[in-house]
Amino acid sequence: MRYLSTRDHDQTTTSFCDILLEGLAPDGGLYLPEQYPTIGAADLDRWRNLLNERGYAALAADVLTLFIDDIPAEDLKDICARAYCTPKFSEDDIVTVKHLEDDIYIGGLSYGPTAAFKDMAMQLLGELFEYELKRRNQVLNILGATSGDTGSSAEYAMRGRDGISVFMLTPRGRMTAFQQAQMFSIADPNVVNMAVDGVFDDCQDIVKDVSRDLQFKRTWSIGAVNSINWARLMAQIVYYICCWIRLTEQVDPSQRNTTAVSFAVPTGNFGDVCAGHVARTMGVPIDRLIVVTNENDVLNEFFTTGVYRVRSAEQTLATSSPSMDISKASNFERFIADLLGRDAARIDDLFGNQLTVEGYFDLSADPAFATVESEYGFLSGRSTHQDRLATIRTSWENSGIMVDPHTADGVKVARELTAGGTVTTPIICLETALPVKFADTIKEATGRLPDTPERFQGIEDLPRHVVDVPNDTQSVKDIIANTLTPQE
Ligand SMILES: *Cc1c(COP(=O)(O)O)cnc(C)c1O
Repeated sequence: MRYLSTRDHDQTTTSFCDILLEGLAPDGGLYLPEQYPTIGAADLDRWRNLLNERGYAALAADVLTLFIDDIPAEDLKDICARAYCTPKFSEDDIVTVKHLEDDIYIGGLSYGPTAAFKDMAMQLLGELFEYELKRRNQVLNILGATSGDTGSSAEYAMRGRDGISVFMLTPRGRMTAFQQAQMFSIADPNVVNMAVDGVFDDCQDIVKDVSRDLQFKRTWSIGAVNSINWARLMAQIVYYICCWIRLTEQVDPSQRNTTAVSFAVPTGNFGDVCAGHVARTMGVPIDRLIVVTNENDVLNEFFTTGVYRVRSAEQTLATSSPSMDISKASNFERFIADLLGRDAARIDDLFGNQLTVEGYFDLSADPAFATVESEYGFLSGRSTHQDRLATIRTSWENSGIMVDPHTADGVKVARELTAGGTVTTPIICLETALPVKFADTIKEATGRLPDTPERFQGIEDLPRHVVDVPNDTQSVKDIIANTLTPQE
């Protein structure tokens, strides 16, 4: 399996381990497999057996061999076994599917160390990074931006690892008390938290800025773990397969492989749902992929109108599903590249030119846009604060299941689409975080506080490790340079 950048006119291909340690491609594009692997009934059967007999880690290792040909299969098995195990994950099953109501299910992805689905990718990434850095005798300094969950997930995956440091930018005051506590309580010297005077997109822009400075990147061995990293997206493909297997377990064996399920995916940077798109393209029986946004509905706008109009930082609302508060979706370029037949020149023009100059592009008149639903299975919907509250409350009252505000956005849209008959297959709503991370909203919705799992008790009382920085790239560079010794 070789990889190439969405914007590379010359179609230069690279191996998995070479892109593993990078963020954006040098041309500003995103890496994608040259071609997605295609799978059939035999693969689905093998995966079901693997999952049922040997567990999630074994399934993951098998799926990942389709994408990674420069790590021996035996090593990959060990890597996955270390990434997906208890007590790092609080559930033996790692990923669960439970019934919510009618034809709606919850895909439990948040049993990892930070109680968010991002651990599913990040725990694997931590292992892959350590493995590959050792092999190359290199060090890596991870620079990332987070609106809450990515950062803590990355820090918990990388803390204490030899040869790895983490510099994480957060939008000051825009995370919940629990999220802040999770990140800022980390005392490991290889983890540096920075609170930027701005919103998440400002943080992300700084990261992109630094990454464009190739000299700086090289001197300080800067890499990324934000959601544009291909390996993260790849890791997420596995749980779509796992959820499908678990939900179809009760189906008659002769019907299983033709039983499709749909997914409702609370979306921010389009990483999670893009993994679903790859799984579907490979041949996993997925009917609909439902892109769910909150009030920051850039993506819902695209899927309903064909116009992708990014917002400015000032136009980005701070909502009660904060991990979806984005104004441009950093992984979206990957799907558009597929939609437009991997036309690198056109992608370069849309994302490298039109979006920066005009602030939008319009595909409504392009024949490809008509295939977004018919061929790619996408639907979309939007949810507001009031919807979120009502959904959290009714799920709790009717089913005794407490969902976090992001998951609630997914459930809200899933209910609409099943009730209206638009979706006729079972919908798995991906649970992107546990309620404990968003206590205020849960309280507002249900009048009670979410349970705090044992492992998180007392976390908000620990000392905080964080530095305040202004909203500018140079200040961030200075902190990195002052913390590290140069590698060359
Ligand atoms: C990151 C995150 C999302 C959005 O995921 P993307 O991959 O950015 O689309 C949704 N909910 C929660 C809780 C998250 O942490």
